[in-house]
Amino acid sequence: SQKALIIGSGIAGIASSIRLAVQGYQVEVFEANSYPGGKLSEITLKGYRFDAGPSLFTLPEQVEELFRLAGKDPKDHFDYEKLEVACHYFWEDGKQIKAWADIHRFAEEVETKLGEPAQNVREALRSSAFIYEHLAPLFMHRSLHQFGTWTNPQALKSYLKMGKLGIFSTMNQANERQFQNPKLVQLFNRYATYNGSDPYQTPATLNIIPHLEFNIGAYFPKKGMHDITMSLYRLAVDLGVGFHFNAKVEEILVENGKAVGVQVNGQSHPADLVVNNMDMVNAYKSILRKQKQPKKLLEQPKSSSALIFYWGVKKEFQELGLHNILFSEDYQTEFEHIFKKGSIYEDPTVYINITSTHKSDDAPEGCMNWFTMINVPNNQGQDWDSLIQEARKNIISKVNRVLKTDLESLIEVEEILEPRTIESKTSSANGALYGNSSNNRFAAFLRHANYSSDIKNLYFCGGSVHPGGGIPLSLLSAKIMMGFVGDS
Ligand code: FAD
Repeated sequence: SQKALIIGSGIAGIASSIRLAVQGYQVEVFEANSYPGGKLSEITLKGYRFDAGPSLFTLPEQVEELFRLAGKDPKDHFDYEKLEVACHYFWEDGKQIKAWADIHRFAEEVETKLGEPAQNVREALRSSAFIYEHLAPLFMHRSLHQFGTWTNPQALKSYLKMGKLGIFSTMNQANERQFQNPKLVQLFNRYATYNGSDPYQTPATLNIIPHLEFNIGAYFPKKGMHDITMSLYRLAVDLGVGFHFNAKVEEILVENGKAVGVQVNGQSHPADLVVNNMDMVNAYKSILRKQKQPKKLLEQPKSSSALIFYWGVKKEFQELGLHNILFSEDYQTEFEHIFKKGSIYEDPTVYINITSTHKSDDAPEGCMNWFTMINVPNNQGQDWDSLIQEARKNIISKVNRVLKTDLESLIEVEEILEPRTIESKTSSANGALYGNSSNNRFAAFLRHANYSSDIKNLYFCGGSVHPGGGIPLSLLSAKIMMGFVGDS
């Protein structure tokens, strides 16, 4: 049978290995780390377990589909639940709301607590659904790099509706038109951060995202986010995929315009096809350095990065759920710091993810595992040590103000993840979470294709290429890629 080699065991690399194995390829994965999953991994600290990277899970059918492809019942291998409350929101003036998954309940909550007409929320979610219906088939399930995608009837229908799809205004402009209360504008602007973009620059098309969380639903894997990695990893091993850990690929070997294998530790490994799951920008700089460079794509601005404090907290806060947001008093200034000044605002929006609220063995009794994250600029050589020290102080005082507590005295363990370590652990260019940003109207649609246009038998998957970052899109990249395998 034909041999396929995959560089990287990120979630898209694992998904590609499963898809190729199911098609009868003999598959081997080379992973630089000692563990699978890339950004989707876990850490444990003295009785606490933390999902290291992603915390929000949407479109679980993208995971289930891989089990079905392999002839297995996903229920036997991967279990998850639908969240009743997508997120708990807090403001400094004492206002709190729960974003109920049930739209009508959420709309009512917003009307009672914030005075925003329920109708406005329902309308916003209807228009989010509209964008999804028109763009998902075109944008998420197909390749934008195939002529056919642009000429099929679905695409033509979408062009006619461009106005409604929000391509000509920013997300913030659209949300300001939609809502009266600035708190609602802020809440809906936050969805830009789901792919590391700036709501004051990104096209309103990204208002597609609330549809995923409300109309389709937010979920939690019962064994934690890391189980997405582990259950798919086990499936791949079961299908005969060979994994090599601590195996950093040094070069993709190219002969006569064709990928013929990879080099690891000075040794060459021949293959019929090669799939790159490494961040696209860093791949061109390292393992494809001798090949033609897609200059424009390499120069595009990157998405934001994150600063995370994994805190073991020896107290249970009843008001906190799985996902919590403590909003900044000045959102626009916060984003100006991230995307224009390359810095961190003194009053950041603080996200706290607490899996022990749904999976009690993730923290000792009476305690909580706080994954505390703020959005920060990607790494441009800033003085991170002092930025992090300053941010830590500001985060703690914000938590103290909003939750009326003394957080410092409750923290019993701490670990930090930041732009520099995100890059060193997963090879993400500049520590960006989602590859290139979608701030520019055109960038939102133009990512590296799922194949190489110069090198035959070389394919691309993962959060830095088409269709985009985040778990669902990374998984889709593997599916779209398979449409080209064997074609070139
Ligand atoms: P990656 O996870 O980027 O992995 C790439 C792999 O390739 C790594 O394991 C790396 O070691 C390996 N590699 C690189 N170079 C080489 C080489 N030369 N040789 C061998 N191996 C190599 N997404 C969501 O959906 N929801 C969220 O809530 C969310 N939150 C996030 C929070 C954080 C802090 C981070 C960091 C990301 C978050 N994301 C979230 C984004 C999501 O994690 C990514 O989009 C997704 O995991 C990317 O998967 P990937 O397949 O591109 O591979």
